[in-house]
Amino acid sequence: MRSCILTILVLAGLQNTAAPDPVKTLVARLDVDQYKATVKGLTQFGDRRQGTDRNRAAVDWIEAQLKSYGCQTERVKYVYDPPPAAGRGRGRGNTGLAVGGGRPRGDKIPTGVNTDPMKQPDEKLRALNMQPTTPGPREMVFCTKVGSTHPDEMYIVGGHMDGHGWGEAANDDGSGTALVMELARVFSAPDVNTDRTIRFALWNNEETGSQGARAYIEQRQALQGRESPAGSGKYPEPKWLGMIQHDMMMFDHGMPLPDGTMRKEQRAEADVNIEFQANSKMAAQSQTLAWVLEAANEKYATDYPAAVGSHMTNTDSGPFMDIVAAISVRENERGAQIGNGWDPQWHQPTDVFTTYTDKDFRLGLNAAQTTLGAVAGLTGATLIK
Ligand SMILES: [Zn+2]
Repeated sequence: MRSCILTILVLAGLQNTAAPDPVKTLVARLDVDQYKATVKGLTQFGDRRQGTDRNRAAVDWIEAQLKSYGCQTERVKYVYDPPPAAGRGRGRGNTGLAVGGGRPRGDKIPTGVNTDPMKQPDEKLRALNMQPTTPGPREMVFCTKVGSTHPDEMYIVGGHMDGHGWGEAANDDGSGTALVMELARVFSAPDVNTDRTIRFALWNNEETGSQGARAYIEQRQALQGRESPAGSGKYPEPKWLGMIQHDMMMFDHGMPLPDGTMRKEQRAEADVNIEFQANSKMAAQSQTLAWVLEAANEKYATDYPAAVGSHMTNTDSGPFMDIVAAISVRENERGAQIGNGWDPQWHQPTDVFTTYTDKDFRLGLNAAQTTLGAVAGLTGATLIK
């Protein structure tokens, strides 16, 4: 009896001195200043419109950063020859529902893509954004953290690095690109081990219809899970377990006010929106993945909660959603909220670094904490002593 009590006491003691949650340690390696610095770094290339020198320079810069973190990079090459101008079908149609199937509420303010250089008051930025896009070859970069026990299976963590609208694409999608880069930095640290592989993808051509993500799928889907060369233990394209996209992470000031203006500050009730698409082949698996992120948010995000929705649309996780569990992480729901004007900087000259306050950047950081916590759990991340 006595030894039994002793055993319990010893076990209780062990419990108290047990190693801290390694995921918590990893999440603590994210910080708002570093996140801001990465967003700032991306804005030096203006709106990073696809098919321009500023877009190509941004791809080079992103690759150099990923390499400096110790994350091994590769490129996907494809050609973008756009068909004659035609709408992308962003409209609501006659169903009364938003794109993606959600139901809009409250007042709507106009949205669209700015194409007028003179709407950019900053002359230096206007000049930087002046080169027009031309059809032709395109490149995008990804980097990979190889899993130690299941190198043949992976999660894809994505954001799109191109933008448009004559601003700096600071939020759309500098904020998502920076999040993916920060996660690549944390997971690539020499003392981090993951059982499964993680790929960090910075898609190009999202704004023209996700041609970067589509090229990736077209070129690599059939290679999944194949060891190459045989017997090498190397898997150029591990089997896809899920795709987690990040697109516009920072601005949740609520719905437009009745007079068409917005609240000046991040609303206290701001949240991280995790969406899957109810009308997709992998809806059940995608929903399960969404709730894994929600649970990680509860456990690891410092300031803002997460909400799960079923109307994911218009982002690079779309082309994946009938193939593999696919979700998007955002500041607002894409269809019913952003579509109703909840982000007045969207594709506008005002999407510049200086528009955003620390509370906005902190919402982006909370999304990073959410995805990092979830992916660390899903891939069995541990710290090497
Ligand atoms: Zn975007």
